[in-house]
Amino acid sequence: MKPSEIDLHKELKKYFGFNQFKGLQEGVVKSIITGNNSFVIMPTGGGKSLCYQLPALVLDGTAIVVSPLIALMKNQVDAIRSLSSEYGVAHVLNSSLTKTEVNQVKKDITSGLTKLLYVAPESLTKEEYIEFLQSVPISFVAIDEAHCISEWGHDFRPEYRNLRTIIKQLGDIPVIGLTATATPKVQEDILKNLDMTDANTFKASFNRPNLFYEVRTKTKNIEGDIIRFIKQHKGKSGVIYCLSRKKVEEIAQVLQVNGISAVPYHAGLDAKTRAKHQDMFLMEDVDVVVATIAFGMGIDKPDVRFVIHHDIPKSLESYYQETGRAGRDGGEGHCLAYYSYKDIEKLEKFMAGKPVAEQEIGFALLQEVVAYAETSMSRRKFLLHYFGEEFDDVNGEGADMDDNVRNPKKKAEAQDQVVT
Ligand code: ADP
Ligand code: MG
Repeated sequence: MKPSEIDLHKELKKYFGFNQFKGLQEGVVKSIITGNNSFVIMPTGGGKSLCYQLPALVLDGTAIVVSPLIALMKNQVDAIRSLSSEYGVAHVLNSSLTKTEVNQVKKDITSGLTKLLYVAPESLTKEEYIEFLQSVPISFVAIDEAHCISEWGHDFRPEYRNLRTIIKQLGDIPVIGLTATATPKVQEDILKNLDMTDANTFKASFNRPNLFYEVRTKTKNIEGDIIRFIKQHKGKSGVIYCLSRKKVEEIAQVLQVNGISAVPYHAGLDAKTRAKHQDMFLMEDVDVVVATIAFGMGIDKPDVRFVIHHDIPKSLESYYQETGRAGRDGGEGHCLAYYSYKDIEKLEKFMAGKPVAEQEIGFALLQEVVAYAETSMSRRKFLLHYFGEEFDDVNGEGADMDDNVRNPKKKAEAQDQVVT
């Protein structure tokens, strides 16, 4: 069937059970199935996966999906398998597979069964895999979390920068980049690095009108303040982000002692405990996860009602990504960040040992965080401006959903805050 003849709504319903495309999805899907390089910028929860999953399912050949995290790939592969009667419709290719498993994957691809092949960027550099992939029909390559390409992104992965060279070895294949964090600078970086300045670009609005943004000055009473806040949101799910593992443990304990069901989550816990705590949160056995940034990429719990930043993050991209985990179902999401300039100095110290170029980027990103925390203007306007979007802070959706707009600071008060 010619791509133009495919009934996309029918396929959407058939595979995903949805009646409607969400936001810009339909345009993206059309762009991909007609073989165009495409660039998709949508906020977290915008529905980016479907943008490449649906084309992969309806096109001939196998789509390669590059994704940075094994856990993320596994989730997606399981989800795809549940949509199809064929187990082999989606596979992961990575270093954890046995020889037998790799052979099965290859067999399924060769026979045309596999529509989606998830790979980590470092696996794609393996000569053996490249040779194999050169020998089979590839429909397109999707690069999820494409901001990993950019040093200006919040999650730079050097391996991502080699992708273009590898893809070129596979032939003249359309490339799809997808990201939720695109400042104009990161966007430019992605397009340049992937050598696709010609790409059809789809940029959704980043506005999340159901999220309420609040920044409080961090004082010694922060723990009491957090406890009070959580008790006001009794029975609701929430995430508290801390900078260090030690702080995560500390806060989780303080909450438990105060009768709040909370578990810690950080990379220092063994995998089993981490998985258990994540499940407890997803299954609502606990209300609160106290976590480092190790928690959350790809977590899709729709009814997270609050995200608290015990420590301010090192960039507004991180902040936006993390707060974006609240209210994914469109319901209430309260984003509360604690800010003190001392924390900024701490973050600066962390950067001291890094290469100069990296430090410069780090400082520039931090300055934006400071400006955001200290601003007395509409926080939503500030954030959206940072992402290259103009927001009407009078009539725009969610215009009154932040502390500054609800309770305008007096000038003098605003200046006082800058000094602390
Ligand atoms: P992103 O990768 O942009 O953060 P996901 O691809 O994880 O977002 O999708 C977020 C949620 O939106 C998922 O629960 C998905 O099932 C849902 N979703 C995607 N497309 C649609 C659609 N057309 N209609 C309804 N729900 C959708
Ligand atoms: Mg995604």
